[in-house]
Amino acid sequence: MKPNFIKIEELWRVASNGATMVKARRAMGLMGGTFNPIHYGHLVAAEAARDAFNLEQVIFIPSGQPPHKSGFYVADPEHRYLMTFLAIVSNQRFELSRVEIDRSGPSYTYDTVAYFHALDPSVDWYFITGADAILDIVTWRNPDSIFRHARLIAASRPGYSLQKIHELERQLGTEPLTRIHPLEVPALAISSSQIRARLREGLSIKYLVPEAVEHYIAKNDVYAVLKGSTAPS
Ligand code: ATP
Ligand code: MG
Repeated sequence: MKPNFIKIEELWRVASNGATMVKARRAMGLMGGTFNPIHYGHLVAAEAARDAFNLEQVIFIPSGQPPHKSGFYVADPEHRYLMTFLAIVSNQRFELSRVEIDRSGPSYTYDTVAYFHALDPSVDWYFITGADAILDIVTWRNPDSIFRHARLIAASRPGYSLQKIHELERQLGTEPLTRIHPLEVPALAISSSQIRARLREGLSIKYLVPEAVEHYIAKNDVYAVLKGSTAPS
């Protein structure tokens, strides 16, 4: 679907027979995460980014084997994929990708961003992260490649300050910082680790995740191994 308005900064002009034509670049969002499980914090951040940046779609990308999460229980990728499907299916502008799940080895954001850029280099790709994850950028492999292929949206998240983005300037330089867009989103103090901790203790996760996700977890006992365990959730 075409955006219904043209953003000034996305215009370029083509002189032809004295007439000036304007063409809008398409903008698409990428929402990466472990989604272990997906919750309303993810959905609210993605929708706020879609709205603020006039993104045609936001593509949710559950990670395969997450490089940063060892030590915590990570549900099977197929469970995380299906829970993400259940959470996004009713939003016409949300889509789902298996690209990280089907890639062997650890999932790196730069690979994913390069993949989508190669799919359509004429699109402005926006990678959406929370205020915590953006700070990991400097520890992600190949930050230069990420900035070459996408812009980053840093969504506010309770407990993390967006001001810290400015500290990245020392490591990254000034130019990449112009490609990071801070975004205030409605504050939801929800995390997947908090949800897993609640499941371990047998507490309710109602209203923290979509109802279908809550039921999927219960029906399939997705986090059964956590019950009674003392390992970090
Ligand atoms: P965990 O506690 O296991 O790390 P999480 O809640 O942080 O889980 P992730 O799958 O790690 O969820 O996060 C995916 C992306 O969503 C990250 O960029 C993260 O910063 C962002 N995010 C997660 N929860 C929120 C929230 N409540 N508000 C804004 N952004 C969020
Ligand atoms: Mg996280």
